[in-house]
Amino acid sequence: MAMLAAVLAGPNDLKAQEVPTPSPGPGEVLVKVGADTICGTDVRILRGEKTSGVQLPVVLGHETAGHVAEVGPGVSGYEVGAPVAMAPVIPCRHCWQCRHDLENACVNMRIVGYAVDGGLAEYLLVPADAVEARCLFVAGADLPSEQLALAEPLACVVNGQRWSPVEMDSTVLIMGAGPIGLLHLQLALVSGARAVVVSEPTPARRERATRFGATVAVDPAGEDLAAVVDEVSRGVGIDSVIVAIGRPELVNQAVQAARIGGRVNLFAGFKGTGLAEVESNLLHYKQVRLTGSSNARRADYETALHLIETGRIDTASMITHRFPLSAVGEAIETVSGGEAVKVAVIP
Ligand SMILES: [Zn+2]
Ligand SMILES: [Zn+2]
Repeated sequence: MAMLAAVLAGPNDLKAQEVPTPSPGPGEVLVKVGADTICGTDVRILRGEKTSGVQLPVVLGHETAGHVAEVGPGVSGYEVGAPVAMAPVIPCRHCWQCRHDLENACVNMRIVGYAVDGGLAEYLLVPADAVEARCLFVAGADLPSEQLALAEPLACVVNGQRWSPVEMDSTVLIMGAGPIGLLHLQLALVSGARAVVVSEPTPARRERATRFGATVAVDPAGEDLAAVVDEVSRGVGIDSVIVAIGRPELVNQAVQAARIGGRVNLFAGFKGTGLAEVESNLLHYKQVRLTGSSNARRADYETALHLIETGRIDTASMITHRFPLSAVGEAIETVSGGEAVKVAVIP
């Protein structure tokens, strides 16, 4: 049996090609992929800009959901046909980080779609250690796979807001209104924020942020962000600032916008070392807590899935483009073009 899979063999060498359909051995589960959504990281892996944790050749795709197709010997808890979604970080569960609730930063992690064949294929083979760690989640509602696939980026957002919590009646500033910014916006509203300011230079993205419930969508190039922050927070400053775009010059602006005792989360990754200039005295006098976050724990993934299943986070409206697996190249082009919110590949 053969299946179609998007195999990355080297930088910019991605082909949808026929490969043998995997068959689940002891402890493994085979998933019929319903959808895999593409994100900026896939683009960076494809171009060879992101190499850490990547082992080629590999089937790309780490935002994956579908249905259980076949269960290997010795596996319990999964029934053929059950809707499932895959948390792509496989933690070792033994290292110091894993033992101290920091498994999203596991030093031995393997990530599906980076080092383990991922979801841009007709079938995804879930390795035994991932099955044992329950990285494959059975969804509580049989929603379209493309909606469940967004549990992955949402899980990272849930993790990010643990480090820069959004409390009831708080004020939030989100810098950047790409797909990640929109998920941060929705989650902040679910958590009870009274005002969410979104700062975004692209008009179409600002408009989208407003549709998703932003209190104000500011153009940082043409408007005075500090004045808006002042007005929305009644002169107090922002409780929780999220930097959702990897531009080092935003770090100081984020600290400036934060209130005394406020928090800033550097959610986005930065190019290179991402060296940023920060007014140290702002941190000192304002007692701002500057945090970062990357990836997600299994618990965050579970929370994300619950948020989607119960309709509290709208992922359906975020899927703007769909492609078959044979057009995976075009799908990735569309992501890098920047007009799409989320692009789904439906094998
Ligand atoms: Zn992603
Ligand atoms: Zn570990």
